[in-house]
Amino acid sequence: MHNIGAKMNFNHLMEDKSLKRRCKSGNGQCYWSPAGNIRSTHGNNVHMTMFCKHCGLREDIFLSKQDYEIQERLILKEIKHVYAR
Ligand SMILES: [Zn+2]
Repeated sequence: MHNIGAKMNFNHLMEDKSLKRRCKSGNGQCYWSPAGNIRSTHGNNVHMTMFCKHCGLREDIFLSKQDYEIQERLILKEIKHVYAR
């Protein structure tokens, strides 16, 4: 299970290979945040786009519906926050 705290860092949703990549901003890891584009897929998955707050890199990820529902409120809150800027 993921550890769901109040912190607004969504790195735990990312695959290891995305986390191991060095951020182009030079601050080590990328700081991933949901960019939106959320949609359900045929299976029991949810597809969404993430982006790095430091370098702007984008990556699409899949979550299980269950994982998504656990995070949904945080994700939607974060997206609203991103779009409000
Ligand atoms: Zn980055």
